[in-house]
Order: sequence, then C-alpha cells, then structure tokens
Amino acid sequence: MTTVLAVANQKGGVAKTTTVASLGAALAGLGRKVLVVDLDPQGCLTFSLGHNPDRLEASVHDVLTGQLPLRDVVLDTDEGFALVPATIDLAGAEAVLLMRPGREFTLKRALATLDDDYDVVLVDCPPSLGVLTLNGLTAADAVLVPLQCETLAHRGVGQLLRTVTEVQQITNPDLALLGALPTLYDARTTHSRDVLSDVADRYDLPVLAPPIPRTVRFAEASASGATVLAGRGNKGAQAYRELAGNLVAHWDEGAELRTFVTE
Ligand code: ADP
Ligand code: MG
Repeated sequence: MTTVLAVANQKGGVAKTTTVASLGAALAGLGRKVLVVDLDPQGCLTFSLGHNPDRLEASVHDVLTGQLPLRDVVLDTDEGFALVPATIDLAGAEAVLLMRPGREFTLKRALATLDDDYDVVLVDCPPSLGVLTLNGLTAADAVLVPLQCETLAHRGVGQLLRTVTEVQQITNPDLALLGALPTLYDARTTHSRDVLSDVADRYDLPVLAPPIPRTVRFAEASASGATVLAGRGNKGAQAYRELAGNLVAHWDEGAELRTFVTE
C-alpha cells in the first residue's frame, strides 16, 4: 500500500519544498521507497534535486494533460528517491485542467497506475489553492501544513482548512489532516512558541513535533544543489529524521503523532 502525503500551504516561503525534499530523504533513509511529486510550476523541488526544469523534455505537465503515463516522467535523484519533475509548462496545465470533468482527480488517477511501487509519495503543492493543489489534496491520504513561526503566520490558515474540509466533503472523504508542521523555528525566542500556541488555540489544529529549527544549512543546500540532508549533525536534518520516524510509526502501528506542547 502506498501512502500519499500532500504538503500544502498557499503561502510561499513556509518550507513546503524543503519539507518534501528533507522528509523524502529521511524516509528513504529508513528504507522506504519514496517518490516525490513537484506540483509547483516554479520547479524549485525539481531544481533542488539536481534537475534543471528548463532542460527537461517531459514533466508532470505531460501527465496531467494526458500526454504521457506517469512512469515515463519519473527521474532518479542522488537522494535515494524518485522524482516526478515540474517545469514552467505546468502553469498552463491549470487552464487545460479547468476544462475537464473530474479535473481534481487527474493526479490521483495517474498515481494509481504505479501499482504500489512506492511506499510513500510526497506531493509538493504550489503556493495557491487552485486546481493543482486540489489535485494534490484529492490524491492524498493525508495533508501536512508547514507553518512558518512568525507573526501573522496564521493568516490564510483558516482558508486552507476550509479548502481541506471541502475536499473531504466533495472529492476525498478519506483525507486526514495530520496537522501543522512548525518550520523556521527559533527556539531562542518566545515569539515562535507564542505563534504556535496561538495557531493551536485559534484553529483546533494539531501542531506537530518536533518543530523544524531555522538553520543556515538549508539555505546553503538549496543554493548549492548539495544533498538535502547533508551535514548529519545539522539540527534541521535531525528534526526531519525524527518526524520521518514518527510518521512511519503512525502509519505502520497507528502510533499517535507527537504534538508540540506549549505552556
Ligand atoms: P516553499 O516551498 O513553502 O515556498 P521553501 O521550502 O522553498 O518554501 O523554503 C523557502 C526558503 O526558506 C528557502 O530559501 C529555503 O532554503 C529556506 N528554508 C527552508 N527551511 C529552512 C530552515 N529550516 N532553515 C533555514 N532556511 C530554511
Ligand atoms: Mg515550494
């Protein structure tokens, strides 16, 4: 059985792409067969995994528009997992999809053709609540919401949760909301903690642990194309490994996900 996890938040810069790449590497490190899907026309995930979107012949766009089977666009990466890449063509897929009946189900149908070749599929959603994100949420067993621990981080969370509820009502009754994942967390300030307790109170949304600390290593890795979990001592990488372990225990044994407890 494949578990599909969508990583979504319509706000940009909250570490969706970093979370997909790092969690993918951490889950692969635990022996899982992992596929990551880039659903963002900007192709940042594709680029960070060593493939230049401008030079690719085929991408998720060809799959969503019905021109190629999903298997034909899967690429290898140096991270021990596979990638379905995105190119800027994907920006045009929205318009094509909008004309089609069942447009929210396109990715789900494509993933079904993989016959459980992968244990986990991670979907990197674009920074919008448009038809691409609806495809990610409709294809997913669960959704994780990265949330940057800054003032006003909660703006847009209500809208995102309403979208999740609508998807649960209309296209995917089995979608589980795992919770918010605190990212770019600064343990030295009380500010990050205050933001998290505010979000937890306001929305009745589980805030998962461990929070992912802000570390300069991530900014460096994405700039240099170095492996995502490079530098094993790095606190960010450790946090993603711990989260991966918690997710595996949750999926395999039904263990409850650890949540972040604020005072
Ligand atoms: P999104 O996909 O939500 O737009 P990204 O994953 O691209 O967000 O992250 C936005 C920026 O923040 C990137 O430059 C990334 O390298 C940086 N970043 C992400 N996580 C961390 C972290 N834990 N510490 C430091 N920088 C981070
Ligand atoms: Mg991104």
